[in-house]
Amino acid sequence: DSKRRNRNGWQAYSPELAQSQEDKLRMETQLRRAADNDEFRLVFQPQVDLRHGRVVAAEALIRWQNHHFGEMRPDHFISHAENTGDIVRIGSWVLREACRQAAAWRDAGLGIMRVAVNVSYRQFLGDDLAATVRGVLEEHGLPGAALELEFTERVLIEDAPDTLQTFATLRDMGVVLTIDDFGEGYSALNYLRRLPIHGLKLSQLFVEGVPGNQSDVAVCQAVAGIARSLGLGLVAEGIESEAQRQFMLQLGVPVGQGFLFAPGLTPDEFAHRLAAQSG
Ligand code: C2E
Ligand code: MG
Ligand code: MG
Ligand code: MG
Repeated sequence: DSKRRNRNGWQAYSPELAQSQEDKLRMETQLRRAADNDEFRLVFQPQVDLRHGRVVAAEALIRWQNHHFGEMRPDHFISHAENTGDIVRIGSWVLREACRQAAAWRDAGLGIMRVAVNVSYRQFLGDDLAATVRGVLEEHGLPGAALELEFTERVLIEDAPDTLQTFATLRDMGVVLTIDDFGEGYSALNYLRRLPIHGLKLSQLFVEGVPGNQSDVAVCQAVAGIARSLGLGLVAEGIESEAQRQFMLQLGVPVGQGFLFAPGLTPDEFAHRLAAQSG
């Protein structure tokens, strides 16, 4: 156990850890204190225009550096935070920090960069998300259009009583609303018609297989068709190869994200990238 403890970096956490009740409790305890202990930070992954690679937005991705567990990816702790409810406080921190960063880039003359923030379904339950967002935008003097919120289809399935109203209020504020990982979940097409959203993010689950895998190609074509028919924007996630970029361009997908362009960058790295393209 001590060997595991001392190990550092991305591999520090193993799935077996989660299975031990003791470690689960330890993680939840550590998570509860993490914000106060300043253990979270954000990296920013560029969303680029697929034609020429120009950055059009930044997605904020949370990272957690903990003395016991090492540096952890969100896939390993977000679900714990959702179970305990801590995700509501963590999510508010992410919103505030992402907007603070967007305002800092604006103040540094790097232009208004739209920042996309991932929002958990739990932030719709028992929290006034629209009020939180309004407060954070006001605090930093940002227009609603400087912020994008990414929700997974789980939000639609959980269907909290005020979900529709929250979406409507956020949209009225000018906030850009996007369904993340589209196609992985329940594909609730009925909700897509009802919700005042702006766009979809095509899950990297399917992007991974193009152009070689015929069923992945079919899913990508279908999602592109849905987006086009409903007048929604579309971002392809997880683009790692030139062949995938070409495929998405031919499909008419305007924007993409992925390691071909950049991984999540520190704020400094991101600012350099912005400065390079405006110069
Ligand atoms: P996501 O929102 O779909 O974010 C994309 C994930 O794919 C990120 O992983 C990103 O680093 C990774 N990625 C980007 N490009 C590529 C690529 O070309 N190839 C591959 N293989 N991966 C790529 P990350 O940062 O580990 O985040 C995982 C998930 O955790 C996110 O998926 C999102 O659902 C969640 N998450 C991240 N930050 C937050 C947050 O602040 N709040 C909440 N509620 N969830 C978050
Ligand atoms: Mg996302
Ligand atoms: Mg995604
Ligand atoms: Mg994902």
